[in-house]
Amino acid sequence: MIVTRYLEFETFIGEVRNITSDVQEAVKSSGLCAGIATVFVPGATGAVTTMEYEDGLVKDLGEALERLFPQSIDYAHNQRWHDGNGHSHIQAAFFGPSLNVPFSEQGLSLGTWQQIVFLELDNRHRRRRIIVQLMGE
Ligand code: ZN
Repeated sequence: MIVTRYLEFETFIGEVRNITSDVQEAVKSSGLCAGIATVFVPGATGAVTTMEYEDGLVKDLGEALERLFPQSIDYAHNQRWHDGNGHSHIQAAFFGPSLNVPFSEQGLSLGTWQQIVFLELDNRHRRRRIIVQLMGE
C-alpha cells in the first residue's frame, strides 16, 4: 500500500529544519507497519538530508556551504535571471531533492543521533510543501 502525506511550513533563509518527528508522525498515522518513507522536495532550491541536529553542526553546515558554494561569486544563472540564487540551485543539486528512510514496527530506522532535516537554500523565505510518500504494508 502507498500513503502520501504533506508537510507544510514557512521557512527562513538558511533554515535547517528538523522534520524527523513530522515524518515519524506520518509513518505512525499511516497504519503501515514496515516499508520505505520517501521524503521529496518539489523545488530546485531546497533539499533534505540527515545529520545530527544540534546548534554547532547547524552552524558548521551553513559555513561549509558558504565555503563550497559562495553566494558572492559569479553564476551564469544570476546573469540570466537576476534573482541572485545561483548558489542556492547548485547547493540543492549537490544534496539532491529526496531521501529514503526504511521503517519497521511503525518506527523510522534512523541512527540514535541521526535526524531528518529540510534545508532552505534559497535566498528568500519560502512556503514549502514537502511530500512524504510511504510504501509498505
Ligand atoms: Zn533562480
